Amino acid sequence: MKIEFQGRKAIVTGSTAGIGRAIAEGLARAGASVVINGRGEERVATALRELRELLPDADFQGVVADVSTAEGSAALEAAVKDADILVNNAGTAHVSGFFEQKDSEWLDLFQLNVMSGVRAARHYIPGMVKRGWGRVVFISSESAVAIPKEMIDYGMTKTAQLAVSRGLAELVGGTGVTVNAVLPGPTRSEILGNWMKATAQEQGITQGEAEQNFLKTMRPTTLINRFTTTEEVANMVIYICSTQAAGTSGAALRVDGGVIRSIT
Ligand code: NAD
Repeated sequence: MKIEFQGRKAIVTGSTAGIGRAIAEGLARAGASVVINGRGEERVATALRELRELLPDADFQGVVADVSTAEGSAALEAAVKDADILVNNAGTAHVSGFFEQKDSEWLDLFQLNVMSGVRAARHYIPGMVKRGWGRVVFISSESAVAIPKEMIDYGMTKTAQLAVSRGLAELVGGTGVTVNAVLPGPTRSEILGNWMKATAQEQGITQGEAEQNFLKTMRPTTLINRFTTTEEVANMVIYICSTQAAGTSGAALRVDGGVIRSIT
């Protein structure tokens, strides 16, 4: 199977680092024209420079926009009117005590992890439907299914993404547009990598040992006994965005290293 995206424009939100960056790189390698998005001028410029060095023939555009706000989403839409592929990846998580958390923390996380994707889908899907082809992917998490007790708010946002993704797939059924969710497990991205690095320094152990401790205590059901790489997550996204994946819509696809102990 040879996946090709020549002539397709892709937006990957939150793509200056981590999983989003790997998805952007993978889509560009397969010929897509890719929009890199992040909040800061400098981070977007650095990502663009590095990606252009790596893939000199690829076409990248940078858009600085904080998609956790309606204004930021509007700025992205103004800069990029149409897209064939939309990957709603921007998101974050904080370890927090449920009983100490304020309403504003729940709402802020919902704005970033859920509303950024809702707004982008509302803007970009009608054009895809009109053109008869489109791919929308929500980067959810295994935490959507196995809600972590130290991040209930995060679990809630990731489950909400599954609802939005499935609902949109129903809405655009038969149009040539597919909508799916991808559920990564613990992945060596920027945020989790930094967390493991800090834990390792604090405890005087290696990052690899910190990751193993995390898996043993927090994700003991892992079948691969390691963090996934951002590239492994990206590979699933690239497949699901391909023309070859036209038979899959409304699905929740796991790249969780088998953490979720369920067959379906
Ligand atoms: P990361 O922090 O390493 O990278 C996130 C990227 O999004 C960065 O480029 C950051 O600058 C950007 N970003 C953050 N807030 C933004 C905003 N408001 N507007 C625009 N850009 C913004 O994170 P990651 O681990 O790669 O996570 C990416 C997605 O994958 C998230 O939705 C996350 O919930 C999901 N996920 C991650 C893991 C994991 O273990 N790393 C597991 C499951 C799901």
